[in-house]
Amino acid sequence: MKFTLPAALLDSLEGLDGFDREPFCRIHEHPEPATSIRLNPLKPFDVFREYGKLEPIPWSRSGYYLPERPSFIFDPLWHAGAYYAQEASGMFLEQCVQQSIDLSASLRALDLCAAPGGKSTLLQSLLSEDSLLVSNEVIKSRAPILEENMSRWGGVNNLVAHNDPRDLGKMTNYFDLILVDAPCSGSGLFRKDPAAVREWSPDAVQLCCGRQRRILSDIYPALKKGGLLIYSTCSYSIAENEDIADWLCDSFSLLPVRIDMRASWNITETKSRKYEAFGYRFFPDKLKGEGFYIACFKKEDGGRPERLTHKKHKWSGLPAKEEAIVRPWLREGLSVNLYVLDGEIFAFPAALEQDLVAVSANLYLKKAGVRIGKIAQGELVPNHELALSALLNKKNVVIPLKKEQALQYLRKETVTIDTEHRGWAIVQYEGVNLGWIKVLGARINNYYPKEWRILKEEKK
Ligand code: SAM
Repeated sequence: MKFTLPAALLDSLEGLDGFDREPFCRIHEHPEPATSIRLNPLKPFDVFREYGKLEPIPWSRSGYYLPERPSFIFDPLWHAGAYYAQEASGMFLEQCVQQSIDLSASLRALDLCAAPGGKSTLLQSLLSEDSLLVSNEVIKSRAPILEENMSRWGGVNNLVAHNDPRDLGKMTNYFDLILVDAPCSGSGLFRKDPAAVREWSPDAVQLCCGRQRRILSDIYPALKKGGLLIYSTCSYSIAENEDIADWLCDSFSLLPVRIDMRASWNITETKSRKYEAFGYRFFPDKLKGEGFYIACFKKEDGGRPERLTHKKHKWSGLPAKEEAIVRPWLREGLSVNLYVLDGEIFAFPAALEQDLVAVSANLYLKKAGVRIGKIAQGELVPNHELALSALLNKKNVVIPLKKEQALQYLRKETVTIDTEHRGWAIVQYEGVNLGWIKVLGARINNYYPKEWRILKEEKK
């Protein structure tokens, strides 16, 4: 679809470092956005055998461009969480985090505007096992997709929350790292969604700026002294980017952080007008990625000390008898605690128990750690999340599936498998877990979650 970019947007960018009107307009004329994926280090598979020779994304350790956009919905590895289909520019978050904070430390990280989960899954892969990641989404209808994607990714040190930034702001001085990937006017994604051009207006930009400031003011108290604030948008507007950086430096005790880059990456470093705060801009006429802005700040002053409500939390420990049933399903030597809530068992890192108490007392959580399952008639009925996690004991029976069988399984159809095994088994595709089946003689029960099943028919 050919379209005309809003003149008011183009005029507002005149003079901005990295903005060249003519090539910028040209690259929008016949949009062919690159497709990229980021691999899940918890779920290795032979990516080159599967997709052929791929071009690495230069600023990411596990990101690759695909030669064309496949139908991810018909790829079992996508359903298994072996990779995330993420826009390449956003993967620069990896550089920002790696260069600005000690990732070997035990950190408390918050992704405030997290749905659908692109940057949260990236943070999950970067943080150490002793760190906590809270992935939050305030919009009710978007929280389920975040929960689903975090479940697919399989990390255990993750809490999925559904709260207003104001509620999180009450957790004063709690987080070492806060990412605000803010809701914005979205001009950076015009090539992916040309229809969005019609919705763009200078008024919409102003509305977004107001919301961005509100979100940032609300969350600022939750950042620890010395903590890292990362702000990003997929807008080109200076008002939503460099001007917000200036406003942050004006309003709070924040110092801009500079990020090193290779010249060959063609990312543009900008400086805000008043404080010369560094920002990193991605222009699609200069690199293989969509429009994106990201800036990092360190908090100088601690403000008030950490203050949290420690109400009695709702989780209870698992009784010893049930613990004995569940533990053999898990890898030996894991330092996770098992808890029960409404009859459902879940695992969470033992070292983070106090964080679980504090966060659950202050926030509404959609999910904590990994759901393990329920006990019924003295046996564990395993949850799908357990199959997708790194907690599962390798001694569980595994049945490899071919692609057609894997797609049958993911459609929640009857899968025909020739096996002597009876009982619970994991089905895999290319060595990556897809989920549970239960073999009952001639019948095989498919335990793939109904709400996740593939409904679309593949065009042959
Ligand atoms: N970080 C996500 C990722 O990488 O997949 C994308 C986030 S998107 C740019 C911005 C998110 O902010 C959306 O999920 C949106 O629902 C959420 N949002 C909208 N209004 C908000 C508000 N007032 N406070 C916090 N988040 C909000």
